[in-house]
Amino acid sequence: MLTKSPRGTKDILPSEVYKWQYIEKKIAELCNNFGYSEIRLPVFEHTELFQRGVGDTTDIVQKEMYTFLDKSERSITLRPEGTAGVVRSYIENGMASLPQPIKLFYNITAYRYEKVQKGRYREFHQFGIEAFGAAGPTIDVEIISMINTFFSELGIGDVSLNINSIGCPKCRAEYNDKLIKYLTPNLNSLCHTCNSRFERNPLRIIDCKEETCKKVTVDAPSLTDNICEECSIHFDGLKDGLANLGISYKVDKNIVRGLDYYTKTVFEFVSDNIGAQGTVCGGGRYDGLIEACGGAPTPGIGFAIGIERLILVMESQGIEFPKSEGIDIFVATIGKKAEKYAQKLIYKLRKEGLSAQMDLMDRSLKAQMKYANKLGACYSIVLGDNEIDTNKAFLKNMDSGEQKEINLDTVIDRLKNIDI
Ligand code: ATP
Ligand code: MG
Repeated sequence: MLTKSPRGTKDILPSEVYKWQYIEKKIAELCNNFGYSEIRLPVFEHTELFQRGVGDTTDIVQKEMYTFLDKSERSITLRPEGTAGVVRSYIENGMASLPQPIKLFYNITAYRYEKVQKGRYREFHQFGIEAFGAAGPTIDVEIISMINTFFSELGIGDVSLNINSIGCPKCRAEYNDKLIKYLTPNLNSLCHTCNSRFERNPLRIIDCKEETCKKVTVDAPSLTDNICEECSIHFDGLKDGLANLGISYKVDKNIVRGLDYYTKTVFEFVSDNIGAQGTVCGGGRYDGLIEACGGAPTPGIGFAIGIERLILVMESQGIEFPKSEGIDIFVATIGKKAEKYAQKLIYKLRKEGLSAQMDLMDRSLKAQMKYANKLGACYSIVLGDNEIDTNKAFLKNMDSGEQKEINLDTVIDRLKNIDI
């Protein structure tokens, strides 16, 4: 074999794809009910979009991006997440002039150069939404209730919601001073990346996954305890709204999330079922992001769910994915004349919306019937010279074995009227 698939990528084979299709169908229904329209964007963008839109002190930008120069020496990056591209599109397509809020969803592949392990890949899939223009906590509650609905539609239980507020640039400036004071005597114990973040975005150090950094930050002052009045009112509004809908949550002061432009609300949905990579969904408000990307100041909020992790959770909880199996009819043939007739017949059947198959491998009749069973055919019909000359054949119910002689011209009408 010439080569294997690159590390961290996975083929989704026909034997697995029904799970994905089922989830995609549920996503489309959910987004329709909550008023989110689909947006489809390029897989790659100019690198500066992510440097700015994700933030150049984040793990994603500092360590994980697939960046390369194209043949015109432009720096291009495979999208590591969905939000930055959607923000770019919102600005570029003048969506601010449409009635607000603008509510969009996407279902994408994303690319991060990460240490590959269960639930962590280099190409992975995200379902996410972004909502632009609404500043109050009502929409924060709406999107959290959307995720809750999604999980319950899929039959997922035992996923806990953790929320936090990380304030706004105003309160964060004051907090940063406190954090810097706390971290200064511990600089030697922080990793190299965190040392480089220390001046520009010390909050990011709280999100570092290195054990040595975690040890330092465990007793650091919490941003949540230092937010301003406006942010505090927003956070109370979020908590009230969740209580109003009966959605239980925990406040987790350690959530600061991966993007630099998050403000106020941040949240995660975590499962205990799938090991260390338990965060199935992450989201939050990013009121500074649109402006940072060159648009007018506009509030925004979104979330993203990792589909691989979602499927892992569903499998670990023993949830069955519905599978549509089988075909309507298998047309078996004996001889060339029958083969020609069958080709025309299955063409007509397929045009009528029925799933029909015939032999393409020169199998014996016995082998064709075995194959029909394998395909899960509901009905079969055997055609030879005699059947074609007399225009009559036996339609067999493959389940019961019952056979009925029918006029060949009527096979399409019959199949269409049988509730297969
Ligand atoms: P983590 O802390 O696990 O690295 P993250 O904060 O980097 O997650 P986000 O950027 O918020 O993740 O992405 C949203 C969701 O996408 C995550 O909650 C997770 O379900 C999924 N996800 C992120 N990175 C990966 C990956 N490398 N492989 C598979 N799924 C991923
Ligand atoms: Mg990550």
